[in-house]
Amino acid sequence: MLKINNLHVSVGEKPILKGLTLDVPAGEVHAIMGPNGAGKSTLGYALSGRPGYEATEGSVQWNGDDMLALEPAERAAKGVFLSFQYPVEIPGVPAMTFVRTALNAQKRARGEVEVSAPEFLKLVKTASATLKMNFDMLKRPLNVGFSGGEKKRMEILQMALLEPSLLILDETDSGLDIDALRIVSEGVNALRSPDRSMLVITHYQRLLDYIKPDRVHVLAAGRIVASGGPELALKLEAEGYDQYLPPIPEIA
Ligand code: ADP
Ligand code: MG
Ligand code: MG
Repeated sequence: MLKINNLHVSVGEKPILKGLTLDVPAGEVHAIMGPNGAGKSTLGYALSGRPGYEATEGSVQWNGDDMLALEPAERAAKGVFLSFQYPVEIPGVPAMTFVRTALNAQKRARGEVEVSAPEFLKLVKTASATLKMNFDMLKRPLNVGFSGGEKKRMEILQMALLEPSLLILDETDSGLDIDALRIVSEGVNALRSPDRSMLVITHYQRLLDYIKPDRVHVLAAGRIVASGGPELALKLEAEGYDQYLPPIPEIA
């Protein structure tokens, strides 16, 4: 399970996370909601070990490991997967090649045997069919000219193949039409398992109609300020985040 205690994270000199505490038991899906600028993406980056996101205080334990002591590649090898809010485009690299490279890098880091080209082709054909993805899309350069929905499907395909144990989805719903949202959610739901934890970061409640969270947390001003069941997401949708925002200073 994931245990975050009193986590402080700075970007440059600027403190962004300011004492964030959160436990996600294995097998559970927790939603992180909150106003823009609250630090939601920063949490995802800090967990994945992105350079420049410096933990200055507190701890993160992942299945007993001190996660903050691990390099990003070591975290990925242990199954940490961050889905980006804005997927990168890589001209010149076919999507399929990218995914196979990522999968084999993970295999090497785990001391496992790499998958051969024919093996990979079989894996990726099965996974793309499950996700109702057009297989030909995988021959195109990664994300170049892909629609918002296609980029997300591409990410879900990567996830399905990398079999993460901690899955962090950062606003994976932004820019998706209803059909794409449903396909992405079905993909994510299919990845639910007793030994996998998920953090679903979203600004809107809509995604949680499709991905039912066990717990919902409100992140505001760098901390978890409220937690509850799925009903909390509905309450936030109705009431907004105003009650969690810092008061606006009076002008004298
Ligand atoms: P959210 O995802 O909740 O909208 P972010 O984690 O993206 O929030 O950002 C939290 C705060 O950190 C914001 O005030 C943002 O401007 C700031 N921030 C994020 N990344 C950087 C960066 N690379 N450099 C400077 N400030 C940053
Ligand atoms: Mg934002
Ligand atoms: Mg964000």
